[in-house]
Amino acid sequence: VKENPDEPEFHQAVKEVLESLRVVIEENEEQYRKDALLERLVNPERQIKFRVPWVDDNGQVQVNTGYRVQFNSAIGPYKGGLRFHPSVNVGIIKFLGFEQIFKNSLTGLPIGGGKGGSNFDPKGKSDREVMAFCQSFMTELCKYIGADTDVPAGDIGVGGREIGYLFGQYKRIQGLYEGVLTGKGLTFGGSLARTEATGYGLLYFANAMLKANGETLEGKTVIMSGAGNVAIYAIEKAYQLGAKPVTCSDSTGWIYDPEGIDVELLKEIKEVRRERLTAYAEARPSAEYHEGKGVWTVKADVAFPCATQNELDIDDAKTLVENGVIAVAEGANMPTTLEATEYLIENGVLFSPGKASNAGGVATSALEMSQNSQRLSWTFEEVDSRLQTIMEDIFANVDAAAKEYGFEKNYVVGANIAGFLKVVDAMNAQGIV
Ligand code: NDP
Repeated sequence: VKENPDEPEFHQAVKEVLESLRVVIEENEEQYRKDALLERLVNPERQIKFRVPWVDDNGQVQVNTGYRVQFNSAIGPYKGGLRFHPSVNVGIIKFLGFEQIFKNSLTGLPIGGGKGGSNFDPKGKSDREVMAFCQSFMTELCKYIGADTDVPAGDIGVGGREIGYLFGQYKRIQGLYEGVLTGKGLTFGGSLARTEATGYGLLYFANAMLKANGETLEGKTVIMSGAGNVAIYAIEKAYQLGAKPVTCSDSTGWIYDPEGIDVELLKEIKEVRRERLTAYAEARPSAEYHEGKGVWTVKADVAFPCATQNELDIDDAKTLVENGVIAVAEGANMPTTLEATEYLIENGVLFSPGKASNAGGVATSALEMSQNSQRLSWTFEEVDSRLQTIMEDIFANVDAAAKEYGFEKNYVVGANIAGFLKVVDAMNAQGIV
């Protein structure tokens, strides 16, 4: 905190992880102290910050800031998304990169932790402006990434369009056709089921968690926040598992649709027309549109926060408990505040942290890397079935770690311990680096 006072989200993430690791840290205190293990873990291996100049449609030069934080490469090349959003700063990227280390470890696949992005806002920009920005961003970033060193992907504000422009520029400068980015289009190395993976994986994880506690998603009413990549495919998979999703939201308002969210209409509005949720309400007579925040007030059995960090606070947690919610599974990264997380767990709500339940996206990205290395493409069914197995294995490992250390049903502690032990083992084996 003293060294980097302006990084509250990063401090929040570190505090949550280290507190939940107390039992493991105490067991090994002397060794960790001698090796400065925790100091090394919370300091990124490398932090890159760069200028991104580009020309807008009026001929005006705009300047944004770009970041890539290469946090930890103990178990594989750095891997983690790029976020384009006006709120991006180094503290946000560090929080996301730190979480990514443990998430990637939990997938069981050989990927280290990293994250990047820019304070650029793609909203309201023309395709040409987005391309100009992406080309300038990659002109600098390409010096630091590669298929075997660091493989970025999408995140908020970075979808298929942006990944395409970034990949084109990387190839042009480096002259390499390699799997340097994931989330690519299907005609140039992308994996089937990557678009769906985070949302689908979230629902596979939630179902595994419910089953371990004598429940399933079948017949449940579920509420989601967000209306982006994660939320859309979480809604789609919820139907496939027999649940009824009745809400979604964006940063200006939210939808309550008692007949169930029409996922094809939502895709059309968000992925094709790139419009706001007001357009959904206009096209769907059963839907109510409300300004501001409010999805957590709708009565339901399971809640899935899929928008952004700290979107579910203590008041929301109290409302969820009053309404009898039995489980909260995080689709976004750190959407629940620390206080709200503690309240939910204390009140017996099954709670899965994003680093476990949203790991399906990065896991499928790692499957995309494997396909690129093999120069092969697997079928949708093959990727989806591997994803389901990976998510069920993650749940089993998280559950086992929680039990082993005496925190049965506390999946926050379980996820942190399971992710941490593998990284620490690899760091120790590789010496003081
Ligand atoms: P998208 O950009 O596709 O969608 C984000 C959604 O959340 C949009 O509906 C957006 O609304 C809403 N949102 C963003 N910021 C805010 C805010 N401050 N307040 C309210 N709503 C907001 O992103 P993704 O769906 O890809 O990502 C969502 C979350 O999931 C993020 O936390 C991301 O880090 C995490 N995640 C994503 C993965 C992936 O594979 N995509 C993998 C693992 C985690 P609006 O359009 O109005 O901005």
